[in-house]
Amino acid sequence: MLETKLEKPYTPFYLIAGPCSVESEEQMLALLRHPGFTKFIRGGIYKMRTSPSSFQGLRNEGIELIKKLKKNFDFHFTTEVSDPRQIQELMQITDVFQVGARNMYNYELLKELAQMGRPVLLKRAFSATLAELLAASEYLAPLGRDKILLCERGIRTFETATRNTLDLGGVMYLKKHTDYKVIVDPSHALGERDYILPAAYASLAAGADGLLVETHPSPSSALSDAQQAIDLNDYDLMLKKLQELAHIFDKQILV
Ligand code: PEP
Ligand code: MN
Repeated sequence: MLETKLEKPYTPFYLIAGPCSVESEEQMLALLRHPGFTKFIRGGIYKMRTSPSSFQGLRNEGIELIKKLKKNFDFHFTTEVSDPRQIQELMQITDVFQVGARNMYNYELLKELAQMGRPVLLKRAFSATLAELLAASEYLAPLGRDKILLCERGIRTFETATRNTLDLGGVMYLKKHTDYKVIVDPSHALGERDYILPAAYASLAAGADGLLVETHPSPSSALSDAQQAIDLNDYDLMLKKLQELAHIFDKQILV
């Protein structure tokens, strides 16, 4: 993904947004046609759900839908790959492979992805230390540093009031000790839409290189993670404020 012209001295800040799950053409069109919506779009096609009775993603149908949309709209697509057997078909539509929290330790998957030449966004597992995240990232080394993105998506702690605990200290640590790009996913970290915007601003201030934000045209009808998806009004507000903040932190928001 991710070649862009930047005005010096700004560093890029990538806003990746989209639904937890790709659900329908109507849903994706509402996002793609929304003025100012980012060109870095996320959307789950193979979903890693805690319960097998929850929506598992559109799978093949989702791949065909994204292929069709890519013919008419210019966007980069990030989607989760949960099994090496999905890689070849996802190569047709994926600009960035997302490795989910449940798969950070799936080293065979990481080894396969390391050979594909496509950027990988590696999410931190629920209870992984930063050292374990960095060790997992080494499996992706053949891709080169520019194609490895680390993602802080909240970790499990003794605190249960929010879905997870957003480890912004971890973001600062990774920025200090590595030269990887670090993306924050406030949606899975907090689990509730009211917290997403403030967490997004805090992430920028903490030094993150971008955000992954679950956004849905109609959050209440989302088939997965409905309670944490922001709507397009919130998206607009978030983007406007991120743009204001970006100047202070020498960043340029890329959408
Ligand atoms: C997702 O991004 O939709 C997802 C399932 O995230 P995580 O792997 O962080 O739980
Ligand atoms: Mn989700």
